[in-house]
Formats: sequence, structure tokens, C-alpha cells
Amino acid sequence: MTRIALWDTRRNDAQKDFAGGMGVGLHPGLGGIGGQIVRMMYRRDYRPVALNFAYLAAVSRKLGFRVTYLEDRLSDADIFFFNPSLQTLEIEKQAMVQAMTRYPHCKVFVTGTVAWAMPGQFTEIGARVIRGEAEQLLFRWEETINSAEPVIDIGTVSDLDSLPFPDWSCFDWSRFRIKYDFWRFPTALIQQSRGCTFQCNYCPYIVIENKTRFRSPESVLEEIRYGQKRYGFESFKFRDPLFGLNRKKAVELAEGIARLPRRIQFSIETRIDIMKFETLEALRDAGLTAITVGIETPSEETLRRYSRQPIRDDRQREFVARCREMGIRTVAGFMVGFPEDTEASIMGVMDYARQLNPTWANFNIVTPYPGTRFHEEVREQIADHDYSKYSVYQPVMKYRYLTARQVSELHARCFNKFYFRSRYFVDNARLIWPQLRRFAG
Ligand code: SF4
Repeated sequence: MTRIALWDTRRNDAQKDFAGGMGVGLHPGLGGIGGQIVRMMYRRDYRPVALNFAYLAAVSRKLGFRVTYLEDRLSDADIFFFNPSLQTLEIEKQAMVQAMTRYPHCKVFVTGTVAWAMPGQFTEIGARVIRGEAEQLLFRWEETINSAEPVIDIGTVSDLDSLPFPDWSCFDWSRFRIKYDFWRFPTALIQQSRGCTFQCNYCPYIVIENKTRFRSPESVLEEIRYGQKRYGFESFKFRDPLFGLNRKKAVELAEGIARLPRRIQFSIETRIDIMKFETLEALRDAGLTAITVGIETPSEETLRRYSRQPIRDDRQREFVARCREMGIRTVAGFMVGFPEDTEASIMGVMDYARQLNPTWANFNIVTPYPGTRFHEEVREQIADHDYSKYSVYQPVMKYRYLTARQVSELHARCFNKFYFRSRYFVDNARLIWPQLRRFAG
């Protein structure tokens, strides 16, 4: 029987499923005691492995192969699959070389967004790149595995309902937990749709494609039921970059989830301007506990410069406030460290975050991801090509008015000034500690 190995690492704090598969890191704990507390909060999680691996496991099993998951170790296999993040690029390349040296009969394939954007990184060491969605292997196994090409283009899955459900059985799934979204565990990753139709030029989610594909609500519900029964999953994090773009499917799914005999918690990611309050209410009634949204910056000029469609300020304020009233946590992403940022513009982002006062604020340092239009535009302004630093927590660019050190310090200050103030706790305590609701009545 063909032996498949899925090689993975969590080193450099890599969270591979995020930033469109490029991966992000964790808050490094800079900025004194405040920074260390924020890092500690994030480290309480044990994030699920990337969904890409769970689909690879499912596809490989469906084809009749034996699957092993290897975290930071090697053992003999016929085929190794890698799904690298940018931050772990060098670590993974070393592991690929070791696998090929130690097991000369094996084949090494690299999948995912980093492989798509930077195939040369892997072909130069003798690994083969699968460009497209790895699940296509279900339909194109023989031609892909036997191809002599260094880069094999296999496209994307046209019918998402034709895929088997992600197979979590070879991972440490009972430990999976994402505490900023949920308080019941273990947590699974799931998708109702793939892709995004917007054009934000820094965004790695649209590197592979700029359109959206959907699953039927019935198929998603079936996967949730299976996840509850087979693994005991209590919470599901939807990994769609734009959940709810198809409102009808979102509402149908919400109604189906609400009818499940065992209630679940779930979270979504979306844009504020596509989510109607009626849809939000239906999702909340079904068990929605958290919603991730990108606010980025209050500067409309900056948003337009990087092809991000701005959302009205009053709509953003109303959205965060209504979510709070409905008992839904908001996880808001902000961006600092654009090439033309100043101390005033970064503090402006922080001030705006404090006014909105979401349950969690992530201040991300602008990162030029290979494969994005932003990367092409700012190529000359990239100061650091050490990808282990591409974590959204370290500055890697040349800034017109600031040094990298200043950006780093201002970034740490954003976290400290956002979290350590009384209004943050007054507004958000009931959401952060839902147990308090019982006492408050
Ligand atoms: S809305 Fe913009 S940032 Fe969000 S996934 Fe789409 S392209 Fe990316």
C-alpha cells in the first residue's frame, strides 16, 4: 500500500491556515509586560492543523493509501506532501532535502499558496510543486504523481460538494482549540465557500483565484453532523474569506445549524458591508459566537491606494455595536506599517480601534506577500527578504518617514493602548467571559 506522509511544523509560531495559506505568527511579546500578557493570551490556543492537510488526508485515504502525519520528524514514506508557510520556508526546505536524501525512492510534492507563488524555491532543491488545489489529486492522481514536470498545474475543484469531508483522524484533533472565538472545544476548521471577489492588492487570499465557489448548505451540515459524531467537535471555525456573500445559502445553513439536535458554536470571517443584520441574527440564533472582519485603517485614501473598497465609518461603528448587543464577539483586523505611514497615522489606527472597541483587535504589520500585486508594486521598498520574519508581527519594509524599529515600537504600543484600559473591559467583559452572564442575569 502506498505510504503518504504529511510533513508539518509549528515552529516560528506558524499558524499556517491564515493569510490565505501564507501563514501568520504570534504576537512576539514586545512592549513590556503588556506585550507579554497579549502573547500569553494568544498562546492559550492550540490551533487546528491547516485545512489543506485534512483534505489531503481525506483524499489520500479515499484513494486507498496509508496516511501518516509527521510534525518536525521524518519516517519512511513513498510520497511526502508539504504545505509550507512563508515563515517556515527554510525549515521545510531542509526537511524536504533530508527526506530525499534519507529515502531516495520517495517523491516530494509541495502544495498550498506559498508553493503556488514561489515554485522556484522548491524546484531548485528537487521537490515538485503542485500548483492549484491539492484536492484535485482525487481526480488527477496518476497523471500528477507520474508527471516528470517540476511544476504540475492541476487547477481548482469545480464542484466542492464532490470532495470527501476533511479527515482529522491522523492529527491531535482533541487538542484543537481557538479561544478567542469559542469557549467549547475541540474546534474544527470548515468551509462553505472558497475565494473572494474583491481586489485588495495586498491580500494573499486572491493569489490563486479571484472568484468564489460555494458548497451546498446540506453538504456543510452533513460535515458538521459527522464532525460532532466522529470527533466530538463542539465548535467550527469557518475559513471562508467572505462568508455570507451568497446570503440565501448563508441563511439556509444557519437554519439547518439551528435545527441540529446538538447545538454547536461557530465563527465566520466576512466584510462588514456584505453582512445584513437579519442574516447576522439568523446566524447568532444558530450559534454564531464570533465574527472576524477587516477594518484595516480609517484612512479612506490609504484603502483606495491599495485597492480596498472602503466601508462607511458609521456602518462599521454600528456593526461592532450591534454585534456586542447580540452577544457576538468581534475580531477586528487593523493594518499598520504602510510605506507612507507616520507616527500620527499609526496612532490614528489605534484611536479608531479604541473607538470601535471590538472584542479582540489584531494589529497586523503590512507584509508584502509574494504573488500579490502589492508585492510587485513595493518590490523596491522591501528591506528584508528573510521570510521567517513574514509573520505580520515584524516590519520587513523600508518606510518613508519611520524606521523599522519605530514601526515595531508603535505596533506594540497599539496593542498596549487598545487592551489595557477600563472601557475595553467594561464593554467586552461579558463577551470575553460569557460565564459572567449567568451572574449578571
Ligand atoms: S475582501 Fe480583500 S482582504 Fe478580504 S479576502 Fe477579499 S481581497 Fe482579501
